[in-house]
Amino acid sequence: MKVGVISVQGAVPEHLRMSELALEAMGRKGEAIAVRRIDDLRSVDCLIIPGGESTTISKLLRKFNLFADIVAMGMDGVPIMGTCAGCVLLAKKGGDQAERTGTELLGLMDMSVDRNAFGRQRESFEAPLEIEGLDSPFPGVFIRAPLITGTWGSCKVVSRHQGEAVMARQDNVLALSFHPELTNDTRVHQLLFSLV
Ligand code: GLN
Repeated sequence: MKVGVISVQGAVPEHLRMSELALEAMGRKGEAIAVRRIDDLRSVDCLIIPGGESTTISKLLRKFNLFADIVAMGMDGVPIMGTCAGCVLLAKKGGDQAERTGTELLGLMDMSVDRNAFGRQRESFEAPLEIEGLDSPFPGVFIRAPLITGTWGSCKVVSRHQGEAVMARQDNVLALSFHPELTNDTRVHQLLFSLV
């Protein structure tokens, strides 16, 4: 299996490392590559859109000519996971902040998000999360995290923190407002790879 990590900005090396560890834990042969060119994008079996700054990532996806192909891959059923800024980009509705900054969203998931929803006092924190499909709590690392404020259609919430949605799944696409690549727990990456 070939895992692609969109590599225009943000937490790329961490996702590459976690992907390799997750493949190893699953006993699956494969590799993880940094994706910056269309040929690389078209060669992968699944895709990770990392955290970073969603407005910047969005602009760079256009600049590097990756935007339309990512949307097409998602609609074709290629498994895709977006974390934090990546979660924002997967949403159909990005709230006031996305509108104000003119951030163009990939829009692969029937959900709305609120960027930086936790405010300044709680810019970053950790909390154990119950995630559907995992049998024990996952260490949630939140950094200037968005919240999933609404879902519709076939988009389903699969994890909540204090009642608020922090992870959702729509068929082949997963969105997380936290950072699984900054833990030592490969289970969320494994969830993605199990969809391939
Ligand atoms: N606050 C950032 C954004 O909205 C996301 C932060 C992150 O990815 N750690 O783009």
